[in-house]
Amino acid sequence: MLNVPPQAFPAPASQQRVAAGSRAKVPLKPGRSLMDWIRLTKSGKDLTGLKGRLIEVTEDELAKHNKKEDCWICIRGFVYNVTPYMEYHPGGEDELMKAAGSDGTDLFDQVHRWVNYESMLKECLVGRMAVKPIAAPKGMLPEKKVLGASAKGLTPSYDWFQTDSLITVVIYTKQKDVNAELVIVDCQDKQLRGEIIMDDHSYLVEVDLDHAVQEDLAVNIAEKVGKVEIILKKKDNIHWKMLGRPLESHNTLIKRTGRGLFYRKCKLVSKTEVTHDTKLFCLMLPKSTHLSVPTGQHVYLKQIIAGTEVVKPYTPVLPFLPLDFKEPSCHGGAHVYLMIKIYSCGLFTQALDHLQIGDYISVSSPEGNFKKSQVQTSEDLFLLAAGTGFTPMVKLLNFALTEVSCLRTVKLIFFNKTEDDILWRSQLEQLALKDERFEVQFVLSQPTKDWVGKHGKISSSLLCEFVKRSRKDSKVLICICGPTPFTEQGVQYLKDLGYSQEEIHAFSA
Ligand code: FAD
Ligand code: NAP
Repeated sequence: MLNVPPQAFPAPASQQRVAAGSRAKVPLKPGRSLMDWIRLTKSGKDLTGLKGRLIEVTEDELAKHNKKEDCWICIRGFVYNVTPYMEYHPGGEDELMKAAGSDGTDLFDQVHRWVNYESMLKECLVGRMAVKPIAAPKGMLPEKKVLGASAKGLTPSYDWFQTDSLITVVIYTKQKDVNAELVIVDCQDKQLRGEIIMDDHSYLVEVDLDHAVQEDLAVNIAEKVGKVEIILKKKDNIHWKMLGRPLESHNTLIKRTGRGLFYRKCKLVSKTEVTHDTKLFCLMLPKSTHLSVPTGQHVYLKQIIAGTEVVKPYTPVLPFLPLDFKEPSCHGGAHVYLMIKIYSCGLFTQALDHLQIGDYISVSSPEGNFKKSQVQTSEDLFLLAAGTGFTPMVKLLNFALTEVSCLRTVKLIFFNKTEDDILWRSQLEQLALKDERFEVQFVLSQPTKDWVGKHGKISSSLLCEFVKRSRKDSKVLICICGPTPFTEQGVQYLKDLGYSQEEIHAFSA
């Protein structure tokens, strides 16, 4: 059963009132939460003023609707009357007004392209933009296939071959150092989707296969030559005349941000308590998926809540902080571990908490702008985390301590309200005992009188002590993650202390 938050939701301090995703936001009025919006969209009220009709909208017509009390916005060719949504927008009315009467696609993509606006705004749909006829020069490729001059010679290509029992799809990426994290493969209902991440571009092979294949697939990567093999097992040992029918985005190389998020259903296999309000969810990827979430990146989870698709980001962690710092091989990348705080009036986390073992939830491909190369040359790594802002630090710690040979110090300063809120405290303390490069400090904002450690909030004086270089000219990386105002304040303090933009990485959506 869905746990529908009470009317007073969201609470005054709630993230939904003050922030959406990770951007600082304006407070929403009472009765203007996401759940309230969902209720309004279900009320049968005519939200477009068009009594259910869909119209063709010209650019001139769109431009006329540019006021708060009459605001239309175009996203990917569809026009929405967002006037009734104004007060519910977590980013505030002014943010929405930036796209009033115009095409807001780019702005939307920059801020939160993962939000499913089609579902959220379906009752606000006015219609499609009227398409102006454009005379395209003969032989011009569709937009998706047009590549930058530098990319042209390096466009990946693919081929396929078969034996009696196997189909092998080979992708020649034409770039070195392709590793498992850059290859995402899914095969669902005969549809094969193989994506190769190439910096900020994505190459896709997407085909509706000619015949059925078995559930499990294998992926072989020849890192040095950039060759990726996807090996599928035929269901029936028959000869295939063709690989299959190409789908819309097949054989395209485009900017990653231009690809819609792809989801696969994952099974909840365990749910274990980490603290009084935080749980470790273990999700099993389908056998027909090859995916591993890179350090510092997050995924999106999608659930239907009261008939509306709701999407939230979460940062995968390891099953535990292994003291010998090797990811257990039995987990083989087939599981995704998420450490999630369940808020008593949280829309998404309450629904998550109600999932039973064996239930399925949609998990997206990874996203995020953190690059491991940022750590690879660091000598001092300082991690600043608050609450569940600890999650990106888990894989980062593992990576730093196992693979970055030039690191001299790794320090974590971890801000929480009370002792009971500290995530993986004993594991962190054990790690500090085991590895002399690692040090952890806990800071509590609401300690009991027995707490002998540091207390307070993030401040310049605390940071000044904490982020001292181990040597005068040490190469430093400082990573910070937590509630948006915490992160913003932290970044400002660090800049005031003289750290450069390149030395700071703030995690956000
Ligand atoms: P909402 O319905 O949005 O909020 C309602 C209630 O939640 C409020 O009443 C309030 O009590 C509480 N609340 C929510 N956020 C806060 C806050 N910051 N401070 C105080 N109270 C708050 N969360 C995780 O638990 N684990 C992760 O690994 C994780 N990774 C993330 C990665 C990224 C890139 C980002 C941007 C966020 C991440 N989050 C993570 C936060 C997560 O996406 C949701 O915002 C969170 O789970 C709350 O969702 P909700 O719908 O349950 O709460
Ligand atoms: P929390 O328990 O509410 O807070 C943790 C600590 O941070 C507490 O000591 C708290 O002090 C302090 N804090 C809260 N707001 C602050 C502010 N404005 N200024 C200074 N200190 C502040 O945290 P949480 O509920 O776990 O929330 C974690 C946050 O991290 C969420 O917002 C989540 O979205 C974000 N997150 C982001 C990413 C990412 O971007 N990649 C990943 C994971 C989590 P008080 O006692 O004053 O509240």
